[in-house]
Amino acid sequence: MGTLKAKDILERLGVSTHGGSGDALESVNPTTGAPQGRIRALTRAEYDQRVETGLRKFDEWRLRPAPRRGELVRSLGELLRQHKELLGELVSLETGKIRAEGIGEVQEMIDICDFAVGLSRQLHGLTIASERPCHRLMEQWHPLGPVGIVTAFNFPVAVWSWNAALAAVCGDVCLWKPSPLTPLCSVAVQALCDRVAAEHDAAGVFSLVPGGAEPGGWMCDDARLPLVSFTGSIAIGRQVASRVASRLGRTLLELGGNNGAIVLEGADLELAVRAITFGAVGTAGQRCTTTRRLFVQRGIAAPLLDKLVAAYRTIRIGDPLEEGVLMGPLVTATAVERFSAAVAAARAQGGEVRFGGRVLDRPGNFVEPTLIVAPRHDSFPIAWEETFAPILYVFEVADLEEALRAHNAVPQGLSSAIFTDSLRAAERFLSASGSDCGIANVNAGTSGAEIGGAFGGEKETGGGRESGSDAWKAYMRRQTSTVNWGRDLPLAQGIQFG
Ligand code: NAD
Repeated sequence: MGTLKAKDILERLGVSTHGGSGDALESVNPTTGAPQGRIRALTRAEYDQRVETGLRKFDEWRLRPAPRRGELVRSLGELLRQHKELLGELVSLETGKIRAEGIGEVQEMIDICDFAVGLSRQLHGLTIASERPCHRLMEQWHPLGPVGIVTAFNFPVAVWSWNAALAAVCGDVCLWKPSPLTPLCSVAVQALCDRVAAEHDAAGVFSLVPGGAEPGGWMCDDARLPLVSFTGSIAIGRQVASRVASRLGRTLLELGGNNGAIVLEGADLELAVRAITFGAVGTAGQRCTTTRRLFVQRGIAAPLLDKLVAAYRTIRIGDPLEEGVLMGPLVTATAVERFSAAVAAARAQGGEVRFGGRVLDRPGNFVEPTLIVAPRHDSFPIAWEETFAPILYVFEVADLEEALRAHNAVPQGLSSAIFTDSLRAAERFLSASGSDCGIANVNAGTSGAEIGGAFGGEKETGGGRESGSDAWKAYMRRQTSTVNWGRDLPLAQGIQFG
């Protein structure tokens, strides 16, 4: 299995191209630097055709009962189960994440499909007490329309599924603009979608819009798409938000994070080190929830750092499909340059590299997992931004209050964690004056969320919520309805008219 090439995987998955006749999108294996396949982007005319097909399908799909819509998503989940390993390996080949994480990503798709199937029998509105006699006041949730889904390279298949599985049961049709760095993953998923769509008379519910920034921009400006769900960097998210807002469309934004973990005296250090190492090094630091800042209470700073260094020494770097490897390459040579620039900036700002810091002298985009002991957080600006690489900045703090102040002092607000056995400290961290992030964990790391909860973050992370809980509401339109079943016409607020 581990020796399969992207081409073989695509063949086994029965992929024929879903590209168009626009520019070529080259898939490059980040482990070797070798090209491994290509598809073509859509032209504007081809894009318009896919939107029109989606709109036509929407007319029928929105009236299909939600539990019937769920059957399409159930079949997709079953097909993903059958092809979990193949698709997971393809994810590894395009992103460089290790095999377990590639397969884990596909498992996440299966989980969200299961969730969405259940949800298809649970979409619900409220009935509200009316102030008027013989009146019923209620909320209904209706399908919204075609949804534009723009995704990042680092979760090339799961992020699409968080959106698409929910949107489909909600009665929407989906147009997916994947990252140009992972074109093969997107055509593979689309091939599976086409198979299930054929079984369920659902062609047009899921369609692909391959390309780079340009088709992403078309979606932003396209009034036929009432919602653009965007996952990516803050810089691009800002452009997307203002373009969609200028036509008064809706956005769901899942942008960059800059996630912090706090370790207090008395915490279980073994557990903390395992969670922090996975959080900082997993996916080579290329998760939106990667642990990037660590705040350690003074009394345990030295032993914790020693344990972290010891853990980092055991990290095997290499081909992500090789057994025992825990860290693969960064996605592109540009990502490696950003890593080096951040390490240099950290040094210039007074940071001390305690582990790693170097680019590996071998083919592919390999860097070392890096631990940097930092000066005070407020005099170390490199830590206020997200560098998408395995760099962990370590700050010594006097107490929880100092840790919280520094933790919340960045513009991003995705994920956070505290390691403590103190109930009081844990509750303080989770309180209204504690972590300001969308995700806050106790004795569990910042990354590796389950799909059952709503996922997303505050501040410049964009405020969107995807996946579990009531995130489905983003894909529907709310209608408040009053039904008068009496013979009089009482007006609200007691108004007498005539
Ligand atoms: P990116 O912003 O470079 O690209 C994201 C997507 O936007 C790609 O599909 C890209 O082609 C498209 N795009 C580029 N320019 C565009 C434009 N002008 N209009 C519309 N679309 C455009 O991000 P990336 O490097 O692929 O991914 C890494 C970033 O994504 C990190 O910041 C990471 O934190 C973030 N991310 C966030 C989450 C989350 O759930 N919060 C999840 C995964 C990744």
